[in-house]
Amino acid sequence: MKNQNSKTAIIIGSGLGGLSTALRLSHLGYDVTVIEKHSNPGGRLNQLKIDGFTFDVGPSFMSMTYELDELFNSVGIKNPIELEELDPLYQVYFENDSRPYKIWKTLSKLEEEFKDIEPNLAAKVEKYLSKAGEFFHDTEDKVVKSNYENVVDYILKLTRVPLKHLPYLFRKMWTEVERNFESEQVRVIFSLVAFFLGSTPFQTPAIYSLLNYTEMKHDGYWKVKGGMYRIVEELMKILKERGVKFIFNTEIVGIANSNGKLNSLIDRNGKIWEADIFISNSDAAAFRGMILGRKKFSEEKLDKMDWTLAPFTIYLGVKGKIDSLMHHNYFLGSNFRGYANKIFTSSIIPQKPYYYVNVSSKSNSECAPVGCENIFILCPVPDRRYKNNWDDKEEIADNIIKDLSRRTNFDIESNTLVKEIYSPVDWEKMFNLYKGSGLGLAHGINQVGAFRPKNKDEIFPNLYYVGASTTPGTGLPMVIISSKLVTERIKADYGIIQ
Ligand SMILES: Cc1cc2nc3c(=O)[nH]c(=O)nc-3n(C[C@H](O)[C@H](O)[C@H](O)COP(=O)(O)OP(=O)(O)OC[C@H]3O[C@@H](n4cnc5c(N)ncnc54)[C@H](O)[C@@H]3O)c2cc1C
Repeated sequence: MKNQNSKTAIIIGSGLGGLSTALRLSHLGYDVTVIEKHSNPGGRLNQLKIDGFTFDVGPSFMSMTYELDELFNSVGIKNPIELEELDPLYQVYFENDSRPYKIWKTLSKLEEEFKDIEPNLAAKVEKYLSKAGEFFHDTEDKVVKSNYENVVDYILKLTRVPLKHLPYLFRKMWTEVERNFESEQVRVIFSLVAFFLGSTPFQTPAIYSLLNYTEMKHDGYWKVKGGMYRIVEELMKILKERGVKFIFNTEIVGIANSNGKLNSLIDRNGKIWEADIFISNSDAAAFRGMILGRKKFSEEKLDKMDWTLAPFTIYLGVKGKIDSLMHHNYFLGSNFRGYANKIFTSSIIPQKPYYYVNVSSKSNSECAPVGCENIFILCPVPDRRYKNNWDDKEEIADNIIKDLSRRTNFDIESNTLVKEIYSPVDWEKMFNLYKGSGLGLAHGINQVGAFRPKNKDEIFPNLYYVGASTTPGTGLPMVIISSKLVTERIKADYGIIQ
């Protein structure tokens, strides 16, 4: 496609996917406007400030950090984000065991930590990760970082992946950890990554043990100096310098005009927004159904798709320092399989929940007043298809906080200075997450690659998609890759602007 003189682009949504696409398109000369329903940018990668406490609202760690380098380098900038690698990656508390297990990236330390319950762990982990690593490298460029024209093209790309990985596709992650480790604790710990995909190890294909490889061997887990929201702040600074326009508190609710191509969108106040091209950072499946009215994505059809678990999140500003907590912590119950199999498709809230706790004030002192901690609790729960009414959110939060007080041996309830709770209903309202699903569409083999909603619209040639529910998938590095893939499409269709 030859160079053109000017092109306007509207991006609907300022999540990491939207902001990354804005950066790449503005670099190619496009005149970019971002329209966001929320009051500030970042989407799920957001920030909450209350009375001297600062919380990251969603993501709390970054993996595959070279994707962040690639994003900034692609527009001629050195990555301005300061990252610090985690080792130990996190600690895990099991029910009825006051001793936390530290999960070290350094395998000799990991072996020492588990010597009583899983002998020779370093060698077992090496074996497990070498297989996962081979799969990761055999698919990263050929499959994950590729655009597909259709299913045939996808299958052709899959045929370039060595056949030896085939059993991985049809096995579940739990089976894979059972084959490699003997103790229940180690099996549970290695299968926790399934929850990062918003699913459970009993549903997630074994291919995603590649996430164990990315956390423990490949690039590891990183925290962002100053908090995760620094990523958004740095991007916003650069985008504004480059002339990208931002419109907040404005929700796109439908199409205003189309004739073969999309000419304009309409917001909730009736204002019309025109552009040459449009990119939706709003959920790629729900947008097609709710905004474009496509039958294939009607509510009934969307409800039948596999969605990731919903987040139930609590933000606590607490007086005092809690020594038993680290930067990342998991608190697990004693009935892993029963919990994972039942709880996410039922409206019953468990007495003994499983949850994750992040305390960013452990390493970023500016996130809490002196002598205090900022505690973020994330408990995966059923989405609104299974539990529609969340009026009991205070009661659920109290139950979790009580459990955390008991297990950390610190009276969190009496020392709480600040408290905010987001149920799946709040998450849906804030960022249009379908029925409160936290990570978007799930990643079973029927919903990845060519089977995931495409990043180019089926009907309008000038409408594209970026973010967690289009290709390649969810998570911060994946949505950065998504922005690269959609930009490649737009560049192929409309070229570079002079
Ligand atoms: C609790 C939680 C914890 C997580 N932890 C991690 C982690 O530690 N590490 C990691 O890598 N990933 C994590 N994730 C996943 C990660 O946050 C997401 O994959 C990623 O942020 C998705 O980015 P996105 O750009 O696709 O979408 P979003 O961040 O959802 O952005 C979409 C934006 O579009 C706006 N929008 C939607 N519809 C409209 C409309 N009609 N009009 C105008 N604006 C609209 C929304 O308000 C939103 O700002 C976590 C997610 C959650 C919920």
